[in-house]
Amino acid sequence: MTTIIKHQVKCAVCGHENEESVVTSTNRKGYMDLDTRPPEMERSTICYRVWECEECGYVAEHLSDPFPLPAAFLQSGQYLGFGGQVPICGLTAKFIKKARIECEMKDYYIAFSDYLGAAWAADDSRDDYWQKESRGLAVLAYEELTKQVATAENAMGADDYNLDGFLQTETGRLFIQILGHFSSPEERVDGIESLSLIVADILRRQGHFDIVIRDYSNSNYKNDFSNKIAGFQVEKAKQRDQGRYTIGDIEA
Ligand SMILES: [Zn+2]
Repeated sequence: MTTIIKHQVKCAVCGHENEESVVTSTNRKGYMDLDTRPPEMERSTICYRVWECEECGYVAEHLSDPFPLPAAFLQSGQYLGFGGQVPICGLTAKFIKKARIECEMKDYYIAFSDYLGAAWAADDSRDDYWQKESRGLAVLAYEELTKQVATAENAMGADDYNLDGFLQTETGRLFIQILGHFSSPEERVDGIESLSLIVADILRRQGHFDIVIRDYSNSNYKNDFSNKIAGFQVEKAKQRDQGRYTIGDIEA
């Protein structure tokens, strides 16, 4: 059973009082999809992950979260524009707007999950344009994230590496932003590894079979189960199978 509590939240941008609902408990019956979409009842609570201020249009996980950009961003085409392809469902639009804020902050880890949320909402509303577009943008966010990590690791591995100096650079600042999403360096490695497996699922379900076969055939994850998932994706890609599978299909 899902339990929800409603409460009033003041928008961090304009001060307007909005109603937000918080999921205090829910449950999962069955397995999550290979792109981590949870089973019911939790599946139906994804709409509570993102909120939009009815006054100024700020979108956030919680509207009381500080808005890190100039307020004018919320009026920009970069934030509001859908190029004539308005998403069928408001939830898709909210996730996309939140992802655009995260991309502007170069926080591609969070942007990835927001674009994935947009894709799920688009699936549910049979919005084929935005399910494809959102999944493509999620893959791009993942690529930006891995570039940030590689740039930081290169800087840290340099002969003249200096921690204080590194932290003052843009590369250092972005690396700290990434680390902020994890409780330990090991968790950071595992977390990004798990995104790469979601990317495999996205690519296969979009029909990019040869990329999956090329990029995941020789996967060497620390975690055996991750290697099993990668193997499963490659096998399905070879069969030209775009189907939706769950973690249960791997265990079977
Ligand atoms: Zn507002």
